[in-house]
Amino acid sequence: MEQTSSQTPQKTFTCQLCGLSCPYSYYGQKPPNTRAIVLLEECFVTRDPFSPDKDRFLVLGSTCSLCRLCVCVGPDCSLFYTKRFCMQCVNKHLGQFPHQIQAELAKKKQNPKAAVS
Ligand SMILES: [Zn+2]
Ligand SMILES: [Zn+2]
Repeated sequence: MEQTSSQTPQKTFTCQLCGLSCPYSYYGQKPPNTRAIVLLEECFVTRDPFSPDKDRFLVLGSTCSLCRLCVCVGPDCSLFYTKRFCMQCVNKHLGQFPHQIQAELAKKKQNPKAAVS
């Protein structure tokens, strides 16, 4: 059990794929001051700035379980399938993911609205 301190210095999470950067308040699986929430993975979370409810928090990102890259939870940067995978690893190991995931990713790639470049 670790002591909770409200004086934690502000740390910044930066997605190493899209460059999104945002201060986070906690890294781990069980954010403090929330009602018994345990996350499926260790991730970077911050208090939801848009919610008056103190228990609300946002998951910013996590680390890829394969290459340990910090990635945000955006669908273009990472995928959660039992563990967190960055898109680089997903593409590298695409054949090892179930067909359902492969189909979903293929659908996303074909969507012209999602293409920025
Ligand atoms: Zn990102
Ligand atoms: Zn990775």
